[in-house]
Amino acid sequence: MRAWAVVENKAPLQCIEVDDPVPVGTEVVVDVSHCGVCHSDLHFWEGSYDMGGGQIMRLRDRGVTLPRAIGHEISGRIIAHGPDAEGIEIGEQCAVYPWIGCGDCDRCAAGDDNLCMRQQSLGVLRHGGFAERVVVPHARYLVPLNGIDPAWAATFGCSGITVLSAIKKLQPQAPDSPVLLIGAGGLGLSAIAMLKALGHDRIISADIDARKREAALDMGATQAIDSAAADAAQQVEAAAGGKLSGAIDFVNVTATAQLATAVLGKGGKLIMVGVGGGQIPLSLAGMVFLARTVQGSNTGTPQDLRDVVSLAAAGKLSRIPLHRMPKDEANRAMTLLNENQVSGRIVLTKGAGASEHALARKSADP
Ligand SMILES: [Zn+2]
Ligand SMILES: [Zn+2]
Repeated sequence: MRAWAVVENKAPLQCIEVDDPVPVGTEVVVDVSHCGVCHSDLHFWEGSYDMGGGQIMRLRDRGVTLPRAIGHEISGRIIAHGPDAEGIEIGEQCAVYPWIGCGDCDRCAAGDDNLCMRQQSLGVLRHGGFAERVVVPHARYLVPLNGIDPAWAATFGCSGITVLSAIKKLQPQAPDSPVLLIGAGGLGLSAIAMLKALGHDRIISADIDARKREAALDMGATQAIDSAAADAAQQVEAAAGGKLSGAIDFVNVTATAQLATAVLGKGGKLIMVGVGGGQIPLSLAGMVFLARTVQGSNTGTPQDLRDVVSLAAAGKLSRIPLHRMPKDEANRAMTLLNENQVSGRIVLTKGAGASEHALARKSADP
């Protein structure tokens, strides 16, 4: 099968031929119809993460080998399965949970694959949705769509569950308690939709990009604030009517973490989701006096994916802007994301066909 793969870090993706999957045991093969393009795909392409304080984490030191077909926001049809796979039907359209755990540890037994120390995630350690087909080790990682748009549902596997998982960590929050969301890209917009679906109605979005602030307001944010403004913290507090009790940082660089910690009051919770890099000094006594929580949150669980699909099926979740592009334009999609030109999410589609998107057509390959 064909697979758009990172062959060399920071070089254009290449369309390579990889072995067609033959499922064994409980494995299920999904023919990928849609795959979202996430910032984590860019990090994989770059091959490293800024860990703050001059520390760099290289993916090759974490067991990642190339070439690898990236892409972890996957939906598609079940086309084959091993003899021990149960509870699925050939032809069924599913969303795929990509953050697959080892299946043996206590975390996996509890259903927390995202906390497994020996993950085998699709698009990272196994070929992902930029390939024509993916192998899913067990049917529990598949959620039937029952008519939900597969382009939208593809995004649930990362952005959908990541925002749901982060919002769950903020709880309890009264529905009218203001929540600050930093970053209005694919995740930030998904979080606005998710908070509204869960009954929250005071959502303050902050972003440095005017176009993204506009998108946040269109999505239903109560206010949108320029996080680069010198008085951004004062603006957030004015919008909230005082200090806040909850913030989620989808950017998570030094400046945004400082903004979030500046506006949180006693008992406030900051949930860190972005991996922009950097570090902040943390007053240890201040953490106590203010009884604060700072918590990291990485993706979500298979149950979170079932919950997001249920919210969507119930008509409670608004769609973020989606820009469909054929998979053969994978490099252009990566470039647009890298150049910060994407409002919402690019979703790569199977086969050829015209792009359905409103994005600028000026970029060269990455
Ligand atoms: Zn992602
Ligand atoms: Zn495990």
